[in-house]
Amino acid sequence: MTRIRSVLILAFALLAVASVSAQRRPAQGTPRPLPDPARAPTLVVFFTVDQLRPDYFDRWRTQLTGGLGRLARGGAFYTNAFQDHALTETAPGHATTMSGRFPRRTGIVRNSAGVQDPQQPLIGARGAGASPFRFRGTTLTDWLRTKNPRTRALSVSGKDRGAILPIGRDAQNVFWYAAPGVFTTSTYYGDTLPDWIRRFNERRLPDSMMTRSWTLLMPDSAYAEPDSVPDEANARDFRFPHVAANDPDWGLPATPFYDELTLGVALEGLRALELGAGPQTDLLAISLSATDYVGHKYGPDSREIHDQILRLDRALGAFLDSLFVLRDSTKVIIALTADHGVASFPEVYARRTGEQAFHVDVAPVVSRVRTQIATRGADSTALQFESGMVFLDRRAMTRARINSDSLLRALARSLAALPGVARVNRPSDLSMRDTTTDAMARRWLHAIPPDLPVELVVTVQPFSVWNTTPRYAEHGTPNDYDAHVPVILYGPPFAPGRRTRPARVVDLAPTLAWATSTVPLETLDGRVLWDALR
Ligand SMILES: [Zn+2]
Repeated sequence: MTRIRSVLILAFALLAVASVSAQRRPAQGTPRPLPDPARAPTLVVFFTVDQLRPDYFDRWRTQLTGGLGRLARGGAFYTNAFQDHALTETAPGHATTMSGRFPRRTGIVRNSAGVQDPQQPLIGARGAGASPFRFRGTTLTDWLRTKNPRTRALSVSGKDRGAILPIGRDAQNVFWYAAPGVFTTSTYYGDTLPDWIRRFNERRLPDSMMTRSWTLLMPDSAYAEPDSVPDEANARDFRFPHVAANDPDWGLPATPFYDELTLGVALEGLRALELGAGPQTDLLAISLSATDYVGHKYGPDSREIHDQILRLDRALGAFLDSLFVLRDSTKVIIALTADHGVASFPEVYARRTGEQAFHVDVAPVVSRVRTQIATRGADSTALQFESGMVFLDRRAMTRARINSDSLLRALARSLAALPGVARVNRPSDLSMRDTTTDAMARRWLHAIPPDLPVELVVTVQPFSVWNTTPRYAEHGTPNDYDAHVPVILYGPPFAPGRRTRPARVVDLAPTLAWATSTVPLETLDGRVLWDALR
């Protein structure tokens, strides 16, 4: 009797354990052999919407009747997906999209060490030179071109980093917007602009967009957000209508017309380069920047971001309609994601929730420690604080007979005491954390390459931001609202429907490689999203 009872208890316990682990590990689908290469798609279109939060799809769901709605409803939509790294900025976010690897391995950790390259000046435009020389390793473009050298890639964006980093180091067709209102490239990619880009630039489309009035797409009653919030746009241009020419600080990029321009040049390039005409798989990467500028200027709670998303939805719908006239939709697969999310203005967040959120100002703490360093005869710039990371020139400290470790311990205590700081860690300590439950530790570890000498990492409390002048709505922290992004896969191989299990942006590249019957050239951080498949 006792024995039977213990067997029953044991069986029940095993069942309980099995059901718990089933809850913890939701179905991720079954691995499959590579599909028939002869039936591979002839075109991969990869959209990165700069600063797109996934909650926008729910907030305005019934109003998304264009391309965003079409992809969200007709694609495999991962609603719980993340750019799973700290430093949720544009450059690292774009470098993960088609590489399948975290910034730790792409080497693109932050915007300030992204694509800037004075050795590679722009062609036919003003602005800083740019190239992917800091980018490490390979991307989907390299894998496709290794399989079939006829594969061509075109990447376009409102930003240099948005165009360059998804492609990696390959000198493909890579173009971005620059002053005085033209699409350009750098000498890394060629000596001249191709004729089709020159013709597009000669149409001078930005001229009329600069003076076009941005009014609401739908009647006032369709917008729940107030339009009279002076926290937006530094209390200046915060009411509709908006005209780019009237605000030289932000200009055209902070209007929906900027995305129309980028989609226009993408379509022109598709035609000119005959992308997707087959039989090889070509690649079209489009990074749409207006959501980021509108989001920074007006914030994620604004009437402006609502209208921007509706207008992006319509522009994307028109683009997809044109694409499917030019190319057989059964031979096209589409991915859509974002490089990062964004936080509300701390003031707006505090009013809405009653919770405190801070503009965290590290400057007094950093300058106090720098003064101490200087009084001991060392160069005070030996200490650097950037985007939550602390760097210290340890050799300069040794020469000045300063103990680096005690200096850093004291600095960590002072930083941790600042209002709005959640924690201060040494990167070496983070690897001892349980990274399945400690998302902040995991995201910092995913962010920092082993050869980047970061001494401390500082994480802000949710909805606090680093202090900047002037103030914008910001992103860049490892908190969920900055890391949470949509991941959508659309096209014949993918089964429509929402997936709520966790996924990562790094999973997109291996999934697209599988769908194009292509083998990655290196080990990846991402895994194939088997449950996206039909
Ligand atoms: Zn961005």
